Amino acid sequence: MIVTRFAPSPTGYLHLGHAFAAWEAARAGARFLLRIEDLDQGRAREEFIAGIFEDLAWLGLTWEEPVLRQSRRMDAYRGALTALAPFTYPCFCTRKEISEEIARAIEAPHGQSLHGPDGPLYPGTCRRLSAEERAMRMARGDAFALRLDAAKAAASVGHLSFTEHGHVHAVDPLLFGDVVLARKDMPASYHLAVVVDDAFQGVTLVTRGVDLLPAAHVQRLLQALLRYPEPGYAHHRLILDKDGRKFSKRDRSVTLRDLRAAGITPSGVEALL
Ligand code: GLU
Repeated sequence: MIVTRFAPSPTGYLHLGHAFAAWEAARAGARFLLRIEDLDQGRAREEFIAGIFEDLAWLGLTWEEPVLRQSRRMDAYRGALTALAPFTYPCFCTRKEISEEIARAIEAPHGQSLHGPDGPLYPGTCRRLSAEERAMRMARGDAFALRLDAAKAAASVGHLSFTEHGHVHAVDPLLFGDVVLARKDMPASYHLAVVVDDAFQGVTLVTRGVDLLPAAHVQRLLQALLRYPEPGYAHHRLILDKDGRKFSKRDRSVTLRDLRAAGITPSGVEALL
């Protein structure tokens, strides 16, 4: 049985792009789940969560209860981090230190910095710390994130692939470099939480926008390290505005609630898509 999910981040009201994504997920699954990705407590708001339920119901969607909320899943993420411990290391770098290190790498003779889907890759500074230095900085109480040692992880799992709309893609385990798995302020990150929750919820087909296709590479790697089942992937086209840009939460004019207030019906929304 195909199990899909819609996993919005409640940092704004849902817009046309979300309506398309939710319909795509619901159509593809015999079971359709909802997950509130409210890890970013600085930006997530209760009113947006209430808005998600309201807007999805208005679109005519029904989903299974209970709805998973990532902000309540810290113990599960901690458990996964423990399992991943052989492949993680503490990173004490600040954003500023990372950009300075990248700038130095570029300025060096024949220097370059490697780029990933989210920008320059972490240059690996803290991966090279000695055990003593790590222990000293932790004992001192320096804040740290946990990063994946991507090369070590890749070597341990061997060749991986993921299936997207029936086509098999080879995983590039180094695509995102040493990604953050736990932020300094919380025992999770986007990639870790998605992987842990998709497995926990029994999602068999990950449907989401094509902008997240690269994420499948690192998420597939994490699934393999955690010995989770492999879901299929179905990344869908993005709904773009008239200038060819992705709708953002700032575009108030296309929120579903504003369209509704303007008298547009759900079939009107479908026609707009
Ligand atoms: N929460 C993410 C978003 O709103 C989607 C995560 C996912 O589908 O993997 O863009």
